[in-house]
Amino acid sequence: MISLHGLTKVFPGGVHALDGIDLTVADGEFFALLGPSGCGKTTLLRTIAGLETPTSGTIRINEQDVTTLPPGRRDVAMVFQDYAIFPHMNVTDNIAYPLRIKKVPRAERTTKAADVAATLSLTELLHRRPGQLSGGQQQRVALARAIACHPTVFLFDEPLSNLDARLRLEARTFLKRLQRDLAVTTVFVTHDQAEALALADRIAVMSQGRMIQVGTPSDIFQRPATTFVASFIGSTPMNLLPGTVTGGALHVAGAVLPTTLPDGQDILYGVRPEYTDLSTTERPDAFPGTVAVLENLGTATLVTLETDSRFIQVVVPEGAEPPLGTPGWAVPRQNRALLYHDGQLIS
Ligand code: ATP
Repeated sequence: MISLHGLTKVFPGGVHALDGIDLTVADGEFFALLGPSGCGKTTLLRTIAGLETPTSGTIRINEQDVTTLPPGRRDVAMVFQDYAIFPHMNVTDNIAYPLRIKKVPRAERTTKAADVAATLSLTELLHRRPGQLSGGQQQRVALARAIACHPTVFLFDEPLSNLDARLRLEARTFLKRLQRDLAVTTVFVTHDQAEALALADRIAVMSQGRMIQVGTPSDIFQRPATTFVASFIGSTPMNLLPGTVTGGALHVAGAVLPTTLPDGQDILYGVRPEYTDLSTTERPDAFPGTVAVLENLGTATLVTLETDSRFIQVVVPEGAEPPLGTPGWAVPRQNRALLYHDGQLIS
């Protein structure tokens, strides 16, 4: 278990990279740190690893206060974006390196390296050097090295980001299975929301050194706590449309919708394109527009309707695309809609 309390990091020059982080990661949990560039993800991971000293706050791993312990005494293994494997060592020696540091005898560490390599399909490559490996293979060597130390905690900093799209998907599934099998508490940094949703047991969405929302992938996807999270999560961004309550009804982008909110309340009406249907006939509970763009998503199509200089997106099944330039009505599934006020979810 990792627990962080009041963790703050101010870099020289006054950058508040971490701004009062409180978090508990459960034993065996796969936890993702997600957020835009510069939000503090890497700094948080490096602080847990002991590569950065926090300005204030405490870090506990399995009840032990490790805040001032050097990295080597924290029992964590970190895999970086650039793998940081040694170019002059072959795969066996790279994997066995942490065991060498722990003074494990050569024969034993070679056997252990071979065992871990087998689980990662690296057996054929044990004698090669990193320069003779593909990016995906190098990534597996870095993972194998992390696994070989039997750490209490894995820390992964965008370990899949150097892989091409297809390999990345394969590596993602592989990593998830591996983490399940090993049941090692894992903190994983990514700026890719799809990766976080797919891999994590829980996700923290960060912005400017703070955790804006912590929850399961379905919490974060279904009920983003703020408009920042709502626009960050989802392969197509959530429609966020300004509206006002008048005469007991909610008026949003040409639609009139039922509401229990008081007259005069201003809101942003949020609904995902996946939870919005397309009608080719007019109806009062729909946003009217003109079909402006069609994007092929493979098994579905993303339709963009243009309405009053605003765009509303709808996902329709393949084959159900309306012709460009024709009128269309986007019908929100009201049980899926979210209302925001001042950037915060209110209903
Ligand atoms: P990315 O996704 O781009 O890697 P990140 O979320 O991991 O971003 P960090 O690398 O943690 O972000 O950086 C957080 C903030 O701290 C940024 O504003 C960054 O410029 C700043 N920062 C990071 N390292 C240092 C440093 N050594 N000295 C000064 N500022 C730093």
